[in-house]
Amino acid sequence: MEFAVTKKEAVILDPANGMQPKVIPVEVRTDPLTGRTARICHFMRLQWKKPDLERLVAGTDAHCPFCPERVLKLTPCFPADIAPDGRFFRGDHVLFPNLAPYDGLGAVATLGSRHYTPMAEIEPARMTGGILLAMDFFRRVRAIGHPESVYHLLSWNYMPASGSSLIHPHLQVFASSTAPNQLREELAAAEVYFRSNGATYWDDLVRVERADGRRFLGRRGRISWLTNFAPFSVAGDVVAVVDDCRGVLDLTEADVTGIAQGLAAAMAAYDRMGIYSFNVCFFPGTESDRFARLHMVFSPRIYYNPILATPDTTALRTLYNESICVGFPEAIAAMIRPEFQETLRLNGGE
Ligand SMILES: [Zn+2]
Repeated sequence: MEFAVTKKEAVILDPANGMQPKVIPVEVRTDPLTGRTARICHFMRLQWKKPDLERLVAGTDAHCPFCPERVLKLTPCFPADIAPDGRFFRGDHVLFPNLAPYDGLGAVATLGSRHYTPMAEIEPARMTGGILLAMDFFRRVRAIGHPESVYHLLSWNYMPASGSSLIHPHLQVFASSTAPNQLREELAAAEVYFRSNGATYWDDLVRVERADGRRFLGRRGRISWLTNFAPFSVAGDVVAVVDDCRGVLDLTEADVTGIAQGLAAAMAAYDRMGIYSFNVCFFPGTESDRFARLHMVFSPRIYYNPILATPDTTALRTLYNESICVGFPEAIAAMIRPEFQETLRLNGGE
């Protein structure tokens, strides 16, 4: 397993210093599994100014289709073979078909009846309920032998910078026989790794990262937390790896609770930087993928220019599929580790 770093330097004549030469470091990092590269560059202080969020969301509840007074009127139902009651319920969480599906089996799960919850106040129990509800749906489509019940995919876009068009927190839940690009590439590389090394890449990654320590955030139960060596996000990513699990349906209720607690720790840590938006994706294998290991990535999102709502996905990211991160993942790990240590200590981890 190689954590390859190519160090480069850009030299400019600096207008802020009488056009004297200034050397700016750049790192190109290569993901040990897939070979995907990420640039560590454009260094800046990891601190953003939050807008007045209460003002931003004011009035968005008036027509929100996920609020409890409208959710059963405005959201669609599944055919009876998938859901005899049309939808799936768990507490005040509701799961229903996505009006804009990406595949043969697309669903959305609300995270309860509350319209707006600031990122750092999303209770772990609310997230646990959403993931368990998604698992109810996956279990059902597996039980009826639906042809799309191959990859059970779970993702979360929170607040507009992440791509979410609604404020009301909700998960994207879909089952597909077609793995999305990043997952397909990871699984293909993990299969090659398994054949060459007789071991699961993600298990080896956890062992190596834990021994190294610089990016390791902690571990509780079957879940290890770390920052991504070659991140997707401008502000680094938090990765969770779950021992012995290939797919989402291998998670126990204790695992789900642990994932929710770790997510809450990540949210608390990034909230301190002024970040209030994120993406989450789960990366499962199929039930027969011996080389797969369920992992999850939490990736914070920002606006480069908040006034213009300039997204952090430029041509570089969208078309070259090259990500940039404005801080070293090891430094980001040091910044966010206290929240993880506190969460894990409170909950009997290490
Ligand atoms: Zn709402």
